[in-house]
Amino acid sequence: MIPKTNSRSRVSKKPWESKSYRDWVKANNYCLICYGAAHEAHHVRECLPRTMGVRVSDKWVVPLCLTHHNDLHQHSRTFWASHGIDPLAWCQASHSAWVLKALRRET
Ligand SMILES: [Zn+2]
Ligand SMILES: [Zn+2]
Repeated sequence: MIPKTNSRSRVSKKPWESKSYRDWVKANNYCLICYGAAHEAHHVRECLPRTMGVRVSDKWVVPLCLTHHNDLHQHSRTFWASHGIDPLAWCQASHSAWVLKALRRET
């Protein structure tokens, strides 16, 4: 039997806001640019509205290899456009797939 306080905190803990998504992105994906091994789960704060930039949700992470992660930090304004990639669309798709998986695990 689960005490009431525990079940409450369990409900408020959203699986999609946990570090495990970030780890999953890193472990199960390839660099979005070159398909090399992902080295870093990068928060794409450069693509989000400024108001959301204070505390970026772990939803907005993309896998990048070491080289492209460095590149991105040096040319954050032009990086995505120059590669013709919309990282936010990738985040949406990847994250909803992961949430579905997480929910399936829960039940
Ligand atoms: Zn790369
Ligand atoms: Zn980064």
